[in-house]
Order: sequence, then C-alpha cells, then structure tokens
Amino acid sequence: MSVRPLCCDPHPTLRAKAHRVASFTDALGALARDLVDTMYANDGIGLAAPQVGEGVAVFVANPSQERGREIVVVNPSMETTGGRAVIVEGCLSVPNVWARVRRAAHVRLRGQDTSGRPVELTADGLLAIVLQHEYDHLQGRLFIDRLSWLKRLQIRLRRLRLRSRPGERCT
Ligand SMILES: [Zn+2]
Repeated sequence: MSVRPLCCDPHPTLRAKAHRVASFTDALGALARDLVDTMYANDGIGLAAPQVGEGVAVFVANPSQERGREIVVVNPSMETTGGRAVIVEGCLSVPNVWARVRRAAHVRLRGQDTSGRPVELTADGLLAIVLQHEYDHLQGRLFIDRLSWLKRLQIRLRRLRLRSRPGERCT
C-alpha cells in the first residue's frame, strides 16, 4: 500500500477513456488500496485510477471520509435516475479550481468489486455527485468540461497566473 503521485490536467491519461479490467489479480487489489491511501493523503472524497496514471476503469469514493467506509468500483456503468443537484466541486487533478457543477441528483451504478463480484448501488446526496465525478474520470472527462465556455476561460486565465505557484501536489 502506498500513496501515489497525482496526475494533473493536462496529463494525457486524464483525457483517455479508461480500459475495462479483464483480470481480477492481486495487482488490481493493490491498485485499489493505493487509490484509497492516495485519496486520504490528499483529503479527497474520491479518486479514479487515471488520476494516478493508470488508465483502467477503477475508482474509489468515500464522502464520509470515515476509514473503512470506502466504496471501490471496477468497470462501472452508470444510469442517472432523476433530479437535479448543483454543488461546488473541486478535483485533486485540477488544483486550485472550484466551481458549481450541475448534475443528476440520483444515480444507479453497476460494476464489480476487486474480486470480480457484481456490485450495484443507488445513491443520492453527496455520494451521487462523487460517483458521477469519478465516473466522468473513467470517460476521460473532468468537472471543468461541464462548465460554460466563459467559466472555462476564466479558469484557464487563473491557472496561467498560478502556474508558478509552489506547493502543488501534482506530477
Ligand atoms: Zn476529480
């Protein structure tokens, strides 16, 4: 188990669709544990494998940040099941940016655990938002892609100004 370095936008792995996991090996379990460790080390509430440079369809989430309550999902498919929610989001791969994002309020997610057993969950509240955010990572999408062009332009200009700022945790 270890904390891995984070990839940040514009890292190419963040922009590629993640590959489905075909073999449920010990290495997959180790990756999931590393994702959990890396999420906690960075005060995150979710983390997807592409964020540590692994282009495979795995993410972890834990909006409660309570140890032992992590959700680990492999090869997810997601269905939005209604409602609207708008909350301020951030992302460990897009440092120093927070913005209001509109998403579905309810989702149903199907996938597998790290042993290949089926997993199904329905979610609302913050968990539904986190699941959609992490699922987007596996499609090569970042939360900033869901903003208006004007907001994206403002963010790009702000990030240019912040580029030389020390202390960013990204590789
Ligand atoms: Zn993210």
